[in-house]
Amino acid sequence: MRQPLIAGNWKMNGSKAETVELLNGIKAGIDQITTSEVAVCPPFPFLYLAEDILQGTPIGHGAQDCSREENGAFTGQVSAAMLKDFGCTYVIVGHSERRLFNGETDAIIGRKYALAVEHGLTPILCVGETLEEREQGKTEEVVARHLDGVLESGGIDALAKGVIAYEPVWAIGTGVTATPEQAQEVHAFLRERVAKKSAEVAQGVRILYGGSMKPANASELMAQADIDGGLIGGAALKAGDFLAICKAGD
Ligand code: PEP
Repeated sequence: MRQPLIAGNWKMNGSKAETVELLNGIKAGIDQITTSEVAVCPPFPFLYLAEDILQGTPIGHGAQDCSREENGAFTGQVSAAMLKDFGCTYVIVGHSERRLFNGETDAIIGRKYALAVEHGLTPILCVGETLEEREQGKTEEVVARHLDGVLESGGIDALAKGVIAYEPVWAIGTGVTATPEQAQEVHAFLRERVAKKSAEVAQGVRILYGGSMKPANASELMAQADIDGGLIGGAALKAGDFLAICKAGD
């Protein structure tokens, strides 16, 4: 049985005061959540607030990215080791916004993933197709390529140490959600692809759905056999909505 994971991707939002308020809001309601694992991924400068405020709670925290390099002369970058130092347990790698705006390739993402694992973090690997790719019937080809980037660099052992997030690019921040059937189809495809390497890892690996998940559609999505939780963007910025999604995962 896979424990559902609900992770909030806060992206580049919030002030210091708003972050404190959001962290405290989630903390105040966490007792209602009985089964789901819950984590938040604030922007880098606010990780210390998450580490401090969430201390002693079951809420984990992570970052939205890490460097592909171990350390050194890489101005502006943040290493996996630094994230670990700030109490992170998770790090998102390969988000479509980073693939798009920062030119991240599968090879780069594979290196980030490997460094995260090496430093004891759990990477959340994002995979997903654009609308154009879906319309061209290339969804499976694209998500397979994203997954294989990690399989090729770290092998099945690395994949066993992470979480996969299927995030159709056309559903991110658009208010358009994949139907439960559309999402389940891709999740099942991803799990089968992992099973070709190891049936045991395929059974254990959590595959989250991300893309305009909100309280109104979370239960239906997470009721699907291969959907093991959610990576939540916009709806993670309101404590009440985020907790409602976490509850839907229970
Ligand atoms: C995301 O960017 O990871 C995401 C799922 O965003 P949203 O929920 O806003 O679509």
